[in-house]
Amino acid sequence: QATIEVAGLRKRFGRTVALDGMSFTVKPGQVTGFVGPNGAGKSTTMRVILGLDAADEGSALVGGRPYTGFRRPLCRLGALLDASALQPSRTARNHLLWLAHSQGLGARRVDEVIEQSGLRSVARRRAGDFSLGMRQRLGIAAALLGDPPVLMLDEPSNGLDPEGIVWIRGLLRSLAAEGRAVLVSSHLMSELQDTADHLVVVGRGRVVADTGVADLIAAA
Ligand code: ADP
Ligand code: ADP
Repeated sequence: QATIEVAGLRKRFGRTVALDGMSFTVKPGQVTGFVGPNGAGKSTTMRVILGLDAADEGSALVGGRPYTGFRRPLCRLGALLDASALQPSRTARNHLLWLAHSQGLGARRVDEVIEQSGLRSVARRRAGDFSLGMRQRLGIAAALLGDPPVLMLDEPSNGLDPEGIVWIRGLLRSLAAEGRAVLVSSHLMSELQDTADHLVVVGRGRVVADTGVADLIAAA
């Protein structure tokens, strides 16, 4: 099943406690907003979910299994992390073609995600010349390539202009409407309150509030 389940994650970097019992679930068909100040542990949690970082304790399951590179995962996961690896000398389209090839996908799928991410007019330009907003769009296009049932986007609105922010909101809503499980982080509640179905609010490496947005509005 397309879920992310995080339970009791703990992680330290030297004397810094990055994760202090982080636990939450991301359900299919919902946008789950992951909100908290810088340093709260959002990126570290996402890196642990992806298997890029190891937790000291706890578990992170994607579709019921750890998401590791060693075994083929049961459930595909598309991710946009902070500095998603870009090859600056390639055009955006060639970058996506290269990623698609490594996943056994062809040019047709690349052109679909270029369209979906609003990159058509710049697809043949060098990715290295892109603005931050265009790099975010390219990172999102890359995350969408494999048509994953689970998506995880770390601060996707970074660098986007107002038009881009409207676009990302619509994209997140349509991905959830298609039944995908979507986890999206921001340090700004205002960015997520109109987009998310569910909010996981974090501070100092743990969850401080975990609530449906409808419940939150009803309580206000
Ligand atoms: P957020 O994504 O919410 O801004 P992070 O997960 O990036 O938070 O960081 C959580 C804490 O862990 C911060 O105090 C940060 O400085 C620290 N941290 C994260 N990654 C590392 C690292 N590679 N080495 C040392 N400290 C780190
Ligand atoms: P974010 O707020 O999105 O997590 P950061 O700037 O905190 O972005 O982190 C960017 C990268 O730097 C991440 O890979 C993170 O693990 C690493 N990092 C964050 N804090 C530290 C730190 N104190 N020492 C070393 N690496 C860090």
